Amino acid sequence: MHEFSIASEIVRNVLDVAEKNSARKILSIRLDIGELSLINVEQVAHWVQALFKGTMAEGAEVKIKTIKAAVQCQSCGYKGRNIPDSRDIVQHFAAFICPKCGSPGVKIEKGRECMLRKIQAER
Ligand SMILES: [Zn+2]
Repeated sequence: MHEFSIASEIVRNVLDVAEKNSARKILSIRLDIGELSLINVEQVAHWVQALFKGTMAEGAEVKIKTIKAAVQCQSCGYKGRNIPDSRDIVQHFAAFICPKCGSPGVKIEKGRECMLRKIQAER
């Protein structure tokens, strides 16, 4: 039920922002979800739409953008995008070795986020 709690958080934020901006109806929202976040995006979209029912956001379109992963080595500055197996890195993160210098100090810079980017509303 990880996706459900993420969705409730998103819905709470959307309705909160909409209210503060005196929106009447929400047309669409956009979410950025990192490919390393291990979030099932279809499930998040499903729960968001389910929780929108009965609110001013009912029927709003849920757009999701997948953010590609990016890593950077803390020792040599190597930057990479093409990660052999994303799930492997998340699960065995400590063992992720820099392909250039062999240092284990590789940090994930992008790809773990899950955020609300845009709300399109009607006033
Ligand atoms: Zn390195």
